[in-house]
Amino acid sequence: MRYQAWLGWLVLVMILCAAACSRAADRPRRHGEADSPDGNEARAKRGDDAKSPDASPDAADDDARFVHKTDREWRKILSSRQYRVTREKATEEPGTGKYCHTKDPGVYHCVCCGAALFDSKAKFESGTGWPSFWKPADKKHVNTALDLSAPELRVEVTCARCDAHLGHVFDDGPPPTGLRFCINSAALDLVAEGQQPRIGRKAVAPRTKAKKQHGKK
Ligand SMILES: [Zn+2]
Repeated sequence: MRYQAWLGWLVLVMILCAAACSRAADRPRRHGEADSPDGNEARAKRGDDAKSPDASPDAADDDARFVHKTDREWRKILSSRQYRVTREKATEEPGTGKYCHTKDPGVYHCVCCGAALFDSKAKFESGTGWPSFWKPADKKHVNTALDLSAPELRVEVTCARCDAHLGHVFDDGPPPTGLRFCINSAALDLVAEGQQPRIGRKAVAPRTKAKKQHGKK
């Protein structure tokens, strides 16, 4: 049984490594930054180009627009719950997040930078008490890395645009990927068609229903 569990993890890690390698060709700067002696400087410079967190979420496709903020700046725009989850890697108590059982259509955006992370079409009821998705909206919008902070070996999921901690990914999800992205609600803002993503504290308030036509209020 233990052997099977390790085998499962090995397969998951291989999948993630393959995904990371395929992305590396497209995005040599993201995690590759650590290998660069001027990585932090480069990141800070890119942050200068993307100071506004309200920039278009589509900018997540643009690697040059990495969002860099100081700890003080994050504390200023995020609620305490959002900050603990996204910047300190805390995990919500199961069943307490506002998107646990949400079935509303839309796209879940990063609450720190507005990047599009998960489509509601990939959300499923996992019974775990956390919003669960079987794939990201775009694999380039999330990063994964081994998380050795707990006795249980896990794979952490972060926002590729701002490094926000989102949750973890496991290999017990449904087809076709077999993956379960287990994500904290506090890291997300569900955006219906015609609505704009909200950043930080603004995302705490309940959304009003999107108007069906000409979405703008
Ligand atoms: Zn983000």
